Amino acid sequence: MPRHCATCSRTDSEARFYGDFCEYCTREKIMRQLPEEIEMRICKRCQRIWTGTRFAAPTKKAVEDALHLRLKGFSINVLQFDGETVSVELGEELKEGKITIEKEFKVKQDKVVCGDCYKRASGYWEACIQLRGGEARVAKAAERIEKYVAHSGAFVTKSEDAPNGIDVYVSDKKTVNEMLLYFHMKATTTFTLYGVKQGRRVYRNTYSIRL
Ligand SMILES: [Zn+2]
Ligand SMILES: [Zn+2]
Repeated sequence: MPRHCATCSRTDSEARFYGDFCEYCTREKIMRQLPEEIEMRICKRCQRIWTGTRFAAPTKKAVEDALHLRLKGFSINVLQFDGETVSVELGEELKEGKITIEKEFKVKQDKVVCGDCYKRASGYWEACIQLRGGEARVAKAAERIEKYVAHSGAFVTKSEDAPNGIDVYVSDKKTVNEMLLYFHMKATTTFTLYGVKQGRRVYRNTYSIRL
C-alpha cells in the first residue's frame, strides 16, 4: 500500500516523506512560518554588519552569523547578499532527516554607527607616536605605520607636523605595541592619565622614536 501525503496526495514513490507529509508540503509549511523580511544591524558609515559579537565586513560567514540571530533552529548557507536582499539555503533537522529550502529575504536595515566609526568621528586616540629625525626617514616611517594600522583594523586619528618630525595619533595602543615589535622600533614610552572608565584608569601612551 503506497502512503499518500495528507495534503496533496502525492505518494511515497513520488516524494520523500516527513511524517504524514511529502517533502513539497513540508517545505511549504516551513516557508509559511518564515518572515519575508529580516532585520540586520548595519553601520551607516562603514557598512559593516553586526554578527552578534562585533561589526564585521559582510563576508559569507559574517552574514550567516547575522542571520543566525534572527533564524533560530536552521543551518544557514548564504547564496547571495547585496545589502538589500539575501538569498539563503536553510536546513532544518526533522525526525526523518534534514530538509533544505531556498529563500530570498528582504533585508530591513537597522542603521547605526558602530563603535569604531563613532571613535573615528569624535577624534578618539590612545597612542601618540612622535617620529623624530631626518625628513625622509620620518616620512617613510609614518607611511609604514599608517599602512600597518589600517591593516590591523585600528585607525590613524590624525597626523601632525611637529618640530623635527611628525606626530601620528592612533586609536588603539595595543595595536601600536604590537607594531613596534613587528617593525623592531625602539621607543621611549610615557603614560598620561586620560580618564577613568568603568572604575579603571585609562592611560594614553606617547611613544618617542628617534629615526
Ligand atoms: Zn504533499
Ligand atoms: Zn562603522
